[in-house]
Amino acid sequence: MVTHDVVSPVDETVIASVPSATQDAVDDAIERASRAHGAWAAVAPGDRARLLRRAAEAVDSAREELAALEVRNSGHTIANARWEAGNVRDVLAYYAGAPERHSGRQIPVPGGVDFTFYEPLGVVGVIVPWNFPMPIASWGFAPALAAGNCVVLKPAELTPLTAVRIAELCHDAGIPQDVFQVVTGAGSTVGWRFVTHEKVRKVCFTGSTAVGKQIMAGCAEQVKRVTLELGGKSANIVFSDADLERAAASAPTSIFDNAGQDCCARSRLLVERSVYERFMSLLEPAVRAFKVKDPSAEDAQMGPLISAEQRRVVSGYVTGSAKVAFRGSAPEGPGYWFPPTVLAPVSPDDRVAREEIFGPVLSVIPFEDEADAVRIANDTVYGLSGSIWTNDVSRALRVARGVESGTLSVNSHSSVRYWTPFGGFKQSGLGRELGPDALSGFSEVKNVFIATER
Ligand code: NAP
Ligand code: MG
Repeated sequence: MVTHDVVSPVDETVIASVPSATQDAVDDAIERASRAHGAWAAVAPGDRARLLRRAAEAVDSAREELAALEVRNSGHTIANARWEAGNVRDVLAYYAGAPERHSGRQIPVPGGVDFTFYEPLGVVGVIVPWNFPMPIASWGFAPALAAGNCVVLKPAELTPLTAVRIAELCHDAGIPQDVFQVVTGAGSTVGWRFVTHEKVRKVCFTGSTAVGKQIMAGCAEQVKRVTLELGGKSANIVFSDADLERAAASAPTSIFDNAGQDCCARSRLLVERSVYERFMSLLEPAVRAFKVKDPSAEDAQMGPLISAEQRRVVSGYVTGSAKVAFRGSAPEGPGYWFPPTVLAPVSPDDRVAREEIFGPVLSVIPFEDEADAVRIANDTVYGLSGSIWTNDVSRALRVARGVESGTLSVNSHSSVRYWTPFGGFKQSGLGRELGPDALSGFSEVKNVFIATER
């Protein structure tokens, strides 16, 4: 069997070896899922709900184990990794409430009765990136299973360990093996087979915009359903009337959390020019105080980047003409460390202001007034997330409506709550995940008319 090594980004040691599935192995998994589907779709709603609740409990019992695994495999801070495992539990528990509530409508028509049903799609392929291996897996598999689909899930080659363990926990909780399978291996083999195999009826993809475009084009061949959660270049907009102390204290977390490897990272900080100098003087100590250290330490705020390759890519943005205003610190020695870095002032046309760096690099852009802020915020192909700092409620609403982005937050940096919808405008994606309507992305609407006239 061909395998690939899993390396810890914390110390560059090999921590596991996992199978690299061949196309035959992927086809086998898809066939098994397809055969299992009829029985799974026929499980009574209350029983499917009970299985998902049990899976949530199993994940909760293993929370520390999963968190420790993610610290090692992904270099996430222990505090974040605990939250991530808890998020999987919560997503499972939330969608455990769905099978019994996934009801269609009765629509008035003449001459009979008209109903709609939500039918499961069949087999769903979920493709997960390396930056949030646990939550992003669950955002796909939990609502898909709740809607009566079978799931074949491919974790990123760099970070497969928690997904493999979560599937075991789900099986222990009673979800049948063939109903939820994790297949490890390369994107070009395993992930792409989800696109080309006729029995996979939907691909739920999270990853880069470049690969997302290929997936969408590939899915067109079979008119396959597709959800895309892609990149971002989100703006954190600070107006002069805002609570500048709070805005400055929280700005580092909004970009440096998870070492900036977050599709919702506020990688562009837009500051009203009249308070620019003052804001930068508040930001600098907050950045220098950001704790970049061994992610298993309880007080760590940031760990290493995921790989040597990612560090090479990120470093490429902080060379030559980049105006480094100030930086935090990072450990020396083994591990893919990179210090929090603030570039300022940056022009909206600079490469660092336009491309998703996916690392701990913040570009600060001054703006003149509200219209200028909205124009700069929207001057990107992306539209995933964003923050607005102001104490003027009318301005907050005007700007929130004006920014072309799927998830906005006023006087905070929250992006993802499992019970609210999440997804992107423009090239940040297609469709929405999470929230009360997630099951509609994993169902077909069927309309049935029954004549009542003799
Ligand atoms: P990526 O290269 O696009 O990979 C994402 C996943 O797709 C991995 O599992 C990868 O497998 C697989 N893959 C790669 N090529 C494929 C292909 N030809 N066919 C099918 N699957 C393929 O992205 P990444 O570098 O892992 O993740 C970073 C990106 O994800 C960033 O751009 C970030 O913004 C985005 N992201 C978006 C969200 C969101 O919700 N909007 C969330 C997280 C991340 P292997 O790597 O194992 O080969
Ligand atoms: Mg990649």
